[in-house]
Amino acid sequence: MAGLTFSNVSKLYAGTPALDGIDAEIAKGEFVALLGPSGCGKTTLLRLTAGFEMPDRGRVTLGGRVLADGTVFVPPEDRNVGIVFQSYALWPHKCVAGNVSYPLEVRGIAASERKRRVAEALELTGLSSFADRAPAQLSGGQRQRVALARCLVADPQAVLLDEPLANLDLALRGAMQEAFAAFHRRTGATMVYVTHDQTEALALADRVAVMESGRIRQFAAPETLYDQPQDCFVAGFVGDGAVVKVDRAGTPVDGEVVVHALGQEIEARGHGMTPTHICIRPEQVRVDSDGSITARVTSCTYQGGRFRVSLEAAGETLITHVPIRAKIGEELRLSLQYPWAFCDPVGTTAIPGQAHA
Ligand code: ATP
Repeated sequence: MAGLTFSNVSKLYAGTPALDGIDAEIAKGEFVALLGPSGCGKTTLLRLTAGFEMPDRGRVTLGGRVLADGTVFVPPEDRNVGIVFQSYALWPHKCVAGNVSYPLEVRGIAASERKRRVAEALELTGLSSFADRAPAQLSGGQRQRVALARCLVADPQAVLLDEPLANLDLALRGAMQEAFAAFHRRTGATMVYVTHDQTEALALADRVAVMESGRIRQFAAPETLYDQPQDCFVAGFVGDGAVVKVDRAGTPVDGEVVVHALGQEIEARGHGMTPTHICIRPEQVRVDSDGSITARVTSCTYQGGRFRVSLEAAGETLITHVPIRAKIGEELRLSLQYPWAFCDPVGTTAIPGQAHA
């Protein structure tokens, strides 16, 4: 399906790459999140798609049409791409319907057609009863929905969203996430959503591109990123848990491999090359009186219905969840339930919790 493609796209600022050889294919109708730490290049990739920046190398296509390469550069207004900014960017003197109608007026669409399309866009975003209000009379979430309606009314081939919920409080973010998901289901639009909040990315997107230093580290479904991270960066950046170097390991056979880590032989999941690390998620760490790993509790925090416990075992920090508060300094026996083993000889780890907003 002809969606949005990036082929070897690079962008330099004063000789420093903000994007470094991006290769990615986003299918028509797919909801993709760009996730990564500050400065990794998410916004640059979005701006390049919108036509606000020109790539120094590579090609961007949408629906099979070249938007930018060494010889072609389609200006933003001719790209048929909609953008929703963090700051809403609404006209303060126009009412909701006036804001939504504006892109159609610019295109010279007849009044009756405009009216129909504005009504449809307001309906899709749940704003029909706010048509005559001024932006100043709306909440942050409602303003963001106006921006979404304005983007949608022009019937874009792709919708680009740049941290659209960053200005909203936590409760409203949850509600708006549902609004975005519903919007995507109803319109089937191709959506690219920039965020540094992994909860948002994992909740909303069909696939997430985890970026670091201008590169895509892994581009996969949320559950794949969590269960089978490709390298230490992704393992440490996405989700909770521990990334532990293995001392030695066998070769994976039929999706299983035995590794030596934490002073133990550990049965792990894995395929491909001989693993160098394991990623141990909290739910893979069991408190088990028959377990072969001895660990000491170093912290315990309540997380609503359960406690998050940090444990020190053989010089590594493991995380698990328990139903009853654990005592600091308490010694526990643990067993591991098939952590994920992967090969990353370079092995740079993201700072744990970096992605948590
Ligand atoms: P954030 O989450 O903080 O918004 P980001 O992942 O969106 O970050 P970008 O805004 O794409 O990151 O920036 C990528 C890199 O390019 C950064 O190092 C940034 O300082 C640099 N950069 C971005 N725009 C410019 C510019 N106009 N001139 C010079 N450097 C820039």
